[in-house]
Amino acid sequence: MPLPEESVVHGSSAPASPGPAEPQHLPALDRLLREGAVAALVREHGHTLVAGEARTLLADLRTQAIAGTLPADAVAPHALARALARRVDARLAPRMRTVLNLTGTVLHTNLGRALLPAAAIAHLQAMMAAPNNLEFDLASGHRGDRDSLVEGLLCELTGAEAATVVNNNAAAVLLTLAALAHGREVIVSRGELVEIGGAFRMPDVMQSAGARLVEVGTTNRTHPRDYEGAIGERTALLMKVHTSNYRIEGFASAVEEARLAPIAHAHGLPLATDLGSGALIDMAPLGLPAEPTPRQMLAAGCDLVTFSGDKLLGGPQAGLIVGRKDIVARIKRHPMKRALRMSKLPLAALEATLRLYLRPERLAQELPTLRLLTRPLADIEAVARAVLPALQAALAPRFTVEPVALQGQVGSGSLPVERLPSSGLAIAPVEKKATGRALEALCAALRGLPVPVIGRVHEDRLLLDMRCLEDPAVFIDQIGLLRLSDKREQLSNE
Ligand SMILES: *Cc1c(COP(=O)(O)O)cnc(C)c1O
Repeated sequence: MPLPEESVVHGSSAPASPGPAEPQHLPALDRLLREGAVAALVREHGHTLVAGEARTLLADLRTQAIAGTLPADAVAPHALARALARRVDARLAPRMRTVLNLTGTVLHTNLGRALLPAAAIAHLQAMMAAPNNLEFDLASGHRGDRDSLVEGLLCELTGAEAATVVNNNAAAVLLTLAALAHGREVIVSRGELVEIGGAFRMPDVMQSAGARLVEVGTTNRTHPRDYEGAIGERTALLMKVHTSNYRIEGFASAVEEARLAPIAHAHGLPLATDLGSGALIDMAPLGLPAEPTPRQMLAAGCDLVTFSGDKLLGGPQAGLIVGRKDIVARIKRHPMKRALRMSKLPLAALEATLRLYLRPERLAQELPTLRLLTRPLADIEAVARAVLPALQAALAPRFTVEPVALQGQVGSGSLPVERLPSSGLAIAPVEKKATGRALEALCAALRGLPVPVIGRVHEDRLLLDMRCLEDPAVFIDQIGLLRLSDKREQLSNE
């Protein structure tokens, strides 16, 4: 029973004289929990969390008191209650938070890649709040196959005979290799043995799948005869890997899918292509650099194409496998498919995202990835101008802030060498000594905002690319909370 306010028992009387608090000035745990404001916290959050945090708070304060570093006013009942409330709030605050991606990289793997379209978020929410027909065929009343929720759409959008989906594209490649080439050989060009961020290396994936990698050609040049010469009794598959995060330029040649497919088929072998980014539509009419589509790859003769759901496709994390019916069926039968299958959460989001492609004219508006990639430069410049005065005011006199033309990028290995003309703000320390540390402190302060702001440091300046800031108010409204005004000494001492 909480005690009425008047009878609140205060911590054993606050210290009479100023000076550091002593350990005995701290209340016992049960007494603290009966304090008016603390009792209210217990009523709101329950005993377990509040008592647990109170115990660690008291232990921390006791350590400080013993060291003689605890200010007297820190043991006042209201101060203890406030400190406890802050701890409880901090424990309940999610670790996954939204941030402002001002890096200039639209599909930033570290920042969660593609933003889901509103339709996908709405569908996700509706599907997760109730039972659904994930694996239930409403027509027959029998058990269904979760892939069937998106297979028709995927076939329509890519021209494939069949499709299946897994957790991500790394899983799609792993499963493909395990199902088609376990204990056998896969021929890949040396120029295409990619490493994708986060320890996805083609040779390692081959090994994990139990397939033997047969490298052909050289780093810069591979010819049809290289593949032909490597085909043997143990060959299971020819594989092309889209070199999505680098490009070999100069004296280079690779064998196009259209050239390689007849070679594979003449030997009764399938040709698979790992596209990575997997744009479902032609990017060129949108003013973006061309990127091979799964449809083009299948039309060129590939038997199987794998690609990601959360790169240029603009949906949730997913690995999509499209291609020949008999090959997709083999992949679906592999026991690993069950372990790598998509969960109902991204599957709901994927279905809603793919449905947006049925109205391609509206795609550049409805799909955030395409909307950001095709955002008019004038819009981006307007955002930079809107943010400029508040940021200048907050950072003067230690930093200068000025509008700047920038080159952003698509990101996530998509269209690696193509740059997106963009606009933003460049922030430079006025004091040219210790520029690096001043910028580090500024970046930390921006990351410390309620919605952390992430930019990129380049040549002694912090660059904030405004392409992905659709609502400048989100940034402007929190600029006043930037904390670095009094850090001059601290910075030079650090
Ligand atoms: C991104 C990428 C992958 C990995 O896809 P995830 O969806 O991140 O697992 C594999 N291959 C290529 C060529 C890629 O670009």
